[in-house]
Amino acid sequence: MDKNPTMTREEFLTHCGRGLLLLALGGGLGGLVARNVRASTDMVWQIDPAKCNACGKCATACVLDRSAVRAANAFNMCGYCDLCTGYFGSQPAALNEGAENQICPTGAIIRKYVEDPYFEYTIDRNKCLACGKCVKDCALYGNGSLHLQIDQGECVHCNDCSIAKVCPTGAISRVPAERPYIPRQRPEN
Ligand code: SF4
Ligand code: SF4
Ligand code: SF4
Repeated sequence: MDKNPTMTREEFLTHCGRGLLLLALGGGLGGLVARNVRASTDMVWQIDPAKCNACGKCATACVLDRSAVRAANAFNMCGYCDLCTGYFGSQPAALNEGAENQICPTGAIIRKYVEDPYFEYTIDRNKCLACGKCVKDCALYGNGSLHLQIDQGECVHCNDCSIAKVCPTGAISRVPAERPYIPRQRPEN
């Protein structure tokens, strides 16, 4: 289990509970997962947003049934666009919150009016499936502020991250547990 000094007792027990559940499944497929979980670490796996191309493998390659990866928005890079290409599909019928206009298959992106003509976009992490669609189109047509990251509260800290093994861009590596997230930053010109 991580020696994360910020982890509360409840979070620690939650992590322990998850580990015990995996161990309880040890006779079946879950055993493969349980044996792959680290006993302790001061390093954790994380995505470098500058290397990720939102290929989609983060949604399917994690050992967890539901990936530990989530989308996030770097507000220092976001244009707060009315026509956000990470939010709207390619030909939206209208620039509003109708499900048919959104690119996200689960409606995980929250669009909130700020002031004309600006809107704020945040991710409902409980709904995000890490498909990367919003990330890809934000990078292609927008500022690239939407990005993927491994949620350290969800990750079970495998010895070998199964997503890192298949990541086509080598975007996933170990980082110090005290700095578990790699900020999305503007590329240098
Ligand atoms: S489009 Fe995919 S990656 Fe983006 S918020 Fe929705 S589920 Fe998450
Ligand atoms: S280390 Fe990688 S494969 Fe394992 S739970 Fe975390 S994100 Fe998923
Ligand atoms: S597998 Fe690598 S390139 Fe693909 S979405 Fe995940 S981090 Fe990005």
